[in-house]
Amino acid sequence: MKKLLPTSTAGSLPKPAWLAEPEKLWSPWKLEGDELVEGKQDALRVSLHDQQQAGIDIVSDGEQTRQHFVTTFIEHLNGVDFEKRETVKIRDRYEASVPSVVGPVSRDKPVFVDDATFLRQQTQQPIKWALPGPMTMVDTLFDGHYKSREKLAWEFAKALNQEAKELAAAGVDIIQFDEPAFNVFFDEVNDWGIAALEKAIEGVECETGVHICYGYGIKANTDWKKTLGSEWRQYEEIFPKLQQSNIDIVSLECQNSHVPMELIELIRGKKVMVGAIDVATNTIETPEEVAETLRKALQFVDAENLYPCTNCGMTPLSRRVAQGKLSALSAGAEIVRQELLAR
Ligand SMILES: [Zn+2]
Repeated sequence: MKKLLPTSTAGSLPKPAWLAEPEKLWSPWKLEGDELVEGKQDALRVSLHDQQQAGIDIVSDGEQTRQHFVTTFIEHLNGVDFEKRETVKIRDRYEASVPSVVGPVSRDKPVFVDDATFLRQQTQQPIKWALPGPMTMVDTLFDGHYKSREKLAWEFAKALNQEAKELAAAGVDIIQFDEPAFNVFFDEVNDWGIAALEKAIEGVECETGVHICYGYGIKANTDWKKTLGSEWRQYEEIFPKLQQSNIDIVSLECQNSHVPMELIELIRGKKVMVGAIDVATNTIETPEEVAETLRKALQFVDAENLYPCTNCGMTPLSRRVAQGKLSALSAGAEIVRQELLAR
């Protein structure tokens, strides 16, 4: 990436109302069969266009091709029964009815490779594709088979590795693994979480990243954030080991969060996607607010490694708000880019 401060999004963008009910997680599709296939591709094109209009440099499908960032990938694997549901506590935070692991998990066929190929055909810009991370996948299921979070994560890592290699071959420039669970289960992250992530990226011939956030702006998450106190030092527990890992990029939540910016120092040498857009509010940041966050981050990350980004996905926001935030991100990054170039 030659451009200084290339912008991107953490992942999801709002879906159009004709495809799925907007501003809602796990929103069911409104189309079926061939119409759904075509509808998802049309939505992907619209989402790409929106990103381009806003001046985003590293573009994505806006996750128009999936219902949810974790479950859609799991739906395509063997060994998970979506009819057999159990209630578990996700990230120790909120209860959800989830599918069960009933046998060995494996991946017979590609999950997102056709979608990524379609995105690749639409643009010459660098593209980023998001996959769930192994630990977050484990945390979104009931395991009645392996009865070991570590073992299940390892099997998921193998399936993710197959998918990641094929996505890279399809022309994806950056593969990002979403690991919000890394912000909760610190001991497990250090014991086996980062090892499973490294298994997932083994031999993958493109850049790889991990997105670690405080979640979508839904009530369960905002309530949890209120319990975290005035300084959020969760990243401190896992950054030293992450710094030692083979992952290229770390994507973080920095805007309006209580994460002390100096924690970024702990991953010195990595590329850092700095979240400069709050996804838990409808208030659109000003370009100057975005610029201020990026300037703070620049104290702890070299300019060539700083990638301005959003805190998390924007699927629960309205299209108008999300578009405003994308434009603010671009404009804010441009302010700081000019400052750097003028030095
Ligand atoms: Zn996130």
